[in-house]
Amino acid sequence: MRVAQVAIARGPRDPLSYAVPDSLAEHLSVGCRVLVPLGRGNRRITGYIIQVADEPAPQFKLKPVSDALDERPLFDADLLSLFRFMSEYYHAPLGDVIRAGLPGGLNVVDARMAALTETGRGHARLDPLLGMLARGPRPVKDLGVSMARLLRLADKGIITLNYELERARVAPRYVSMISLTGEEPAKKLKSGAGPAVLLELLRADGPQQVPSLKGRVSNHGPSVRRLVALGAAEIEKVQIFRDPWRGAAAERDTPPALTADQTAAVARICGAVDGDAYAGFLLRGVTGSGKTEVYLHALAHALEQGRGGIVLVPEIALTPQLAGRFRARFGDRVAVLHSALSDGERLDQWDLIRRGERSCVVGARSALFAPVPELGIIIVDEEHEGSFKQDESPRYHARDMALKRGHAAGCPVVLGSATPSLETVTNAANGRLQALELPKRIGDRAMPEVELVDLRKNAPVRPEALLSAPLLDAIKETVDRGEQAIIFINRRGFASCFMCRTCGDVPMCIDCSVSLTYHRHQRRLSCHYCGYVTRVPTRCVVCKDGEMQMVGTGTEQVETVLAEELPKARVARMDRDTTRGRALTRLLNSFRAREIDVLVGTQMVAKGHDFPAVTLVGVLLAEQMLRMQDFRASERTFQLLTQVAGRAGRHELPGRVMVQTFAPEHHSLQCALTHDVTRFVKHESHLRKMRGFPPYGYCCLVRLDSPQMNTARDAAGRVARHLRAAIGAAGLPVELIGPNPATLERIKGRSRYQVMLLSKSRGALHRVVSALDAPDSALLGGARLVVDVDPTNLL
Ligand code: ADP
Ligand code: ZN
Repeated sequence: MRVAQVAIARGPRDPLSYAVPDSLAEHLSVGCRVLVPLGRGNRRITGYIIQVADEPAPQFKLKPVSDALDERPLFDADLLSLFRFMSEYYHAPLGDVIRAGLPGGLNVVDARMAALTETGRGHARLDPLLGMLARGPRPVKDLGVSMARLLRLADKGIITLNYELERARVAPRYVSMISLTGEEPAKKLKSGAGPAVLLELLRADGPQQVPSLKGRVSNHGPSVRRLVALGAAEIEKVQIFRDPWRGAAAERDTPPALTADQTAAVARICGAVDGDAYAGFLLRGVTGSGKTEVYLHALAHALEQGRGGIVLVPEIALTPQLAGRFRARFGDRVAVLHSALSDGERLDQWDLIRRGERSCVVGARSALFAPVPELGIIIVDEEHEGSFKQDESPRYHARDMALKRGHAAGCPVVLGSATPSLETVTNAANGRLQALELPKRIGDRAMPEVELVDLRKNAPVRPEALLSAPLLDAIKETVDRGEQAIIFINRRGFASCFMCRTCGDVPMCIDCSVSLTYHRHQRRLSCHYCGYVTRVPTRCVVCKDGEMQMVGTGTEQVETVLAEELPKARVARMDRDTTRGRALTRLLNSFRAREIDVLVGTQMVAKGHDFPAVTLVGVLLAEQMLRMQDFRASERTFQLLTQVAGRAGRHELPGRVMVQTFAPEHHSLQCALTHDVTRFVKHESHLRKMRGFPPYGYCCLVRLDSPQMNTARDAAGRVARHLRAAIGAAGLPVELIGPNPATLERIKGRSRYQVMLLSKSRGALHRVVSALDAPDSALLGGARLVVDVDPTNLL
């Protein structure tokens, strides 16, 4: 019999077998979605076919596939092998991985629907809930009322509760097109009437979308039907593609002549494209050195060979701008995939890619899974960015998986950055990646001058916004000259650390190079790497004098204070909490159009933007990130400072960068001051090596969370013992740290405890983690388990 293996998202961990009914046999192949019954209630749910084969009938009866949902596969064998790899590597169910790789909103499931009965209709006017149902059945989960209440209503025969298929959130959109058959109408048309006008219009302008005729042809509906009935026209359903550019045409550009460094880099990458085999590159170039131009040339070459390309960019904030540059070069061959698109736009872009009508894909993390036929190159811009790591299951790193996909597809992968991650630098050093360098800015433009403002000597004049006199003056001067300033503050370091008011010291762990985290509950400082615990000092232990204070200033205070200090300037704020999607694009556009003088923001302002009139970049508190309970804190600080600084003076006007800090001597700051990546990497590698942190070891974070603190804590204890046993039984070289409360102990009403695993051997680490692949319920005791391989967020 024909048997399909079906992976299910958010369902059972392992794929299930279903019988293929004869009626569907033709439609089912690997990569298609199907509707399958699941569980005792035979609720129907979407699954993905990962294998179809003829097999001997099993002992027990297989349930049949209920329906086929696709005519053509959504993913091919190459992508499936990537999905399988991810599932193993990240210890995530295959169904979840596939779901993450497809455009959102496609899946359909049976949902419990509430509907009014005849009896219920009589009551509908008296009760808002019933009134809502009078307009049609609704999914129970959307009603916002307790199940108990619904069951009571069902008992009284007022409503019914049944499982029914809920429609997919998105679907391809079709429109009726009317075109001429070439036949004369079977009857003479009255001149000036609708059908005659329509006939003339079709003769003059060609086929038309029926809805567009409204207003152009009187009585357009009947006129259309009449003309069709008379045999002169015909109607055809055609798919229309929702357009993320909203019909705006691409402004085309001409490629500049490349510099010698760019030419050399492009030649190496193009050589690899022609070689039709995997090759990994690190393109390292300071901000403004012309990396994007290298991508454009390499891509142009791949496209000329009839191949496609994927460009991954870190932030949705950046995607439109960067996509604009690709579109200027490649016009309508460019597709974009990012979260600011509507579900429908995203689905249509994806569909066009799959049909081979868009060969150049620019997008955020999940664009890595774009179904580009004949993939010829993958580019990961700003490869060091944290946003390439997904922070929900599957917790994959798009940069690492890009290398993997390049391997499978046999094409080069280019990782570009001004401040590459230590992992990537190490890969280049040991020969796994080929290094390409762009050491100078285009046109030999100077790197912006970076000045440190020592806050110990320049106490903030507006302390609530951390603004020192030199920075405030510089902002005023910049605005007076009619130029623009970006003020950066990283809010994420908020209130989790203590700092001395006098010397700026922050208590650090005695064994690890990380700051201690304040735990409100226990009023203790603790280290999550080694478990060291100490009490909160009342006076600073370094200068024996200063009072300890909690640190934290947010973008909002800064915006308000700046508006007061510069009453004539236009000040705006940009951060993740307030600015999303199209609002973000609007804000960036109005900053570019110079309708805003000072932009205050979080990391979103730091990255990749190219604003010609920005001549001042201010960083309010450089060490905010250094204080985070994370071994990558120094690295992130260095990267961020270098990136922020890179926003200044990118064009004719020279740039100035002012970095306020209490800790001017820290190596992250000192290296950022001189734009010295090499020195930073050397210093930082040394610290990581000593402690066995990545890239000198592999790491996995196991987290347990629950609304009840005890539940999470006890589960973490049991899981730690379980993992210790797995390590001990096989004598594996894996270090286990914890269980400890997470730095962010409670998020969204859940208490979080974690266990960290570190090992020099990736294989050993994975063997230990496998002990959690099918955890029994006694082990978890109701807590939720999260396994994060190669974690980037340890909070
Ligand atoms: P990066 O991506 O390294 O920050 P970009 O590719 O954005 O650098 O280049 C910085 C600026 O220099 C852009 O405005 C770009 O158009 C311009 N540029 C890049 N390469 C050249 C070149 N070969 N000749 C002239 N201008 C260039
Ligand atoms: Zn002190």
